[in-house]
Order: sequence, then structure tokens, then C-alpha cells
Amino acid sequence: MRIQLLPSTFDAQGVATLEQRLTCFVIDDCVAVDAGSIAIALNAEQRSKVRDIIVTHPHMDHVASLPIFIDDLYPSLQEPMRIYATEEVIGLLERDVFNWNVYPRFSDLKNDYGPVMEYIPIPVGEPFRVAHLNVVAVPVNHIVPTVGLVVSDGQTSVAFSSDTAETDDFWKIVNEMKGLDALLIEASFPDRMSKLAHVSRHFTPASLGQELKKLTHNGMDIMAVHLKPSYREEIIEQLHALNIPKLGVMEPGRIYEW
Ligand SMILES: [Zn+2]
Ligand SMILES: [Zn+2]
Repeated sequence: MRIQLLPSTFDAQGVATLEQRLTCFVIDDCVAVDAGSIAIALNAEQRSKVRDIIVTHPHMDHVASLPIFIDDLYPSLQEPMRIYATEEVIGLLERDVFNWNVYPRFSDLKNDYGPVMEYIPIPVGEPFRVAHLNVVAVPVNHIVPTVGLVVSDGQTSVAFSSDTAETDDFWKIVNEMKGLDALLIEASFPDRMSKLAHVSRHFTPASLGQELKKLTHNGMDIMAVHLKPSYREEIIEQLHALNIPKLGVMEPGRIYEW
């Protein structure tokens, strides 16, 4: 499985920067997990192939350019953009984003080929199919309804925590996946900001270190993501100081293969 965390910003030479402001992972160039930077950082091939998008929760950094992406492709979409999310998250997207005020309600619109956007409600705790992938979604502990995911292609499995603080259901499902290849887990704030991390339901390196003790098997790569750009270096230092084997920081733009 090929996974790329899309970059969010580019320097004056057009080179992707390492700061992660927006969240969007692209799997095998065709399925997206969240859509923060989807309209600004997909390459041409990905742009022509990505029609399946799983939205873990409606926070702006995860959906910022989703409306623009659908808008850009509006006349040329020969099949609808399929948005996979829980009923709760679909309700929030319709109420707060695709509401005719912030942006058009694309789920009501058609182009010459048919509907341009379709919601696919996803179950929690039960597997469902997205393109060639099997996915299980499980609620995590964030300030809005949010799911973590375990994604498998039959050979490789990768878990995505999405945004979360201390949680149990996610670890239960991760612990059941004995052959898990990688765990992409959030680490948003440095340790000195544990209060803000707590109220906004995110991890610091210290709370992540505690949380990883819930893992009953190891050997998978653990990649920290969602580092707030202003504290990136500080968070990385604190993550390294945890001395957890195979714990690294995922680089936006780079392609990882598991
Ligand atoms: Zn969030
Ligand atoms: Zn976020």
C-alpha cells in the first residue's frame, strides 16, 4: 500500500514544505483519507483518479479544500465524488459546509453525466469497502464526532488515528490486527501545552507515550502526524526522547510503501 500525506504549502520555488497545516492522505493514488489539502496538492494522475474520500471528521484542517476540489472537477466528473463518513459527520458537512452559504450543496447538483457528489454513510465497528480497500471505522476521542480507521488491501494494513486524545476502542481494534504494518498517529502539541491539548482533545508526545502502552503487539512502524507547524521541531525532539522503537515522524509529500 502506498500512502502519501499531501503537503499543505509550498515554498517560493514550488517545493513542498514539511509543515503540516492540513490533513489529507492519499492511498494508492486513488483513495483519500480526509481532504484538507486535496485541491492544492494532488498531482495530475491523482486528480484524475481520486473519487473516493473518507472524511474522519468535519474540522477545517481536514475538509478545507474539499469543496474547491469538487468545484474544480465539476464539469468533468463522470461519476460522483463519493464521500464516506458516519451519519453524524455527513449531517455536519451538510449543515456547516455544503449549505449554500459557505458553499453549494453539491449533493443536490448534477453535471452532464449525473450527480457530482454522493454521501456514503459508513458503519462503525463493521468493515466496509472503499474502492479496493477494506476499511473499519471506530469512534475516537475528539471534540467533534470523529473516527479512526484501519485500512487493508488484503496484504497490508495501516491504522489512522485521526485527531484524538486518550481512547480505548481504537486500541482494541488495533490490537486485534496482529499483522498491522503501520500506525499513523497524531501528536499535535508539545508537552508544555498539555492543557490546550487536553481541552481540544489531542495528544502531546508525553500523552502519546502513555497511550502507546496500550498496544499489545509491536513491530509496526509508528508515524506521528498532525504536528502543529508552530511547534514542529519541539514536538519532534520530545517524540525522539520517548525512545520508542520504530516511532518516526511522517513527512508531507513523501511516499511511504508498506
Ligand atoms: Zn480535529
Ligand atoms: Zn486536525
